Amino acid sequence: MNGRSPMTNKSEEALRQLALGMGVSDARVIDSRRIRVENELARICKDPGCPGYGQGANCPPHVMKPETFRQTLEAYPRALVFKFDVPTEVLLGEERFEVSRLVHETAAALERHALSCGFTAARGLAAGSCKRIFCPDKPACRVLAGNGECRHPDAARPSISGLGIHFFELSQTVGWPIHKITGDSQPDEVPMGLLAGIVLLTRETPET
Ligand code: SF4
Repeated sequence: MNGRSPMTNKSEEALRQLALGMGVSDARVIDSRRIRVENELARICKDPGCPGYGQGANCPPHVMKPETFRQTLEAYPRALVFKFDVPTEVLLGEERFEVSRLVHETAAALERHALSCGFTAARGLAAGSCKRIFCPDKPACRVLAGNGECRHPDAARPSISGLGIHFFELSQTVGWPIHKITGDSQPDEVPMGLLAGIVLLTRETPET
């Protein structure tokens, strides 16, 4: 027995199966306490820096701060974590934005499904900067410019790294050992990497 109701266990497994049916390489439902959030990791977006820093509402310094996100996470006892395995040469090229888009769309679709299955206030999170993925040809994020709502509310989700989630550690925890892919990575030495998403799950109504 794991302390959760059979209905919750069944819903979690149904969500996991749905993710697999959507084409993810793997998906796990975990205890959210296994997700570590570090202030320092969110700072990396600024220094040494990502081109998406400050460009969209889902990235630092505009997205929720790690300190606040840690509190939010306490209201979500469970999390669906999913990944797409991606060849390193794709991750090092412009094609990575197409895969990142798929990760965001998948997180958003799973979030919607979770909400419809009684996981109140489910929240999808995804790898990558939404500005670079969804609005690269726009001069500015519409939310930050104060010109209205997000152009892609059904797809763009907060950045996992921007929230300070220690995804490298989490990937080891769930059994997806990965090598960090950098501009110096050689595809023949490290042929595969991954891009991931998370959907936070609760059956309560969080106060945040
Ligand atoms: S408008 Fe574009 S850049 Fe701004 S939050 Fe939405 S997807 Fe991100």
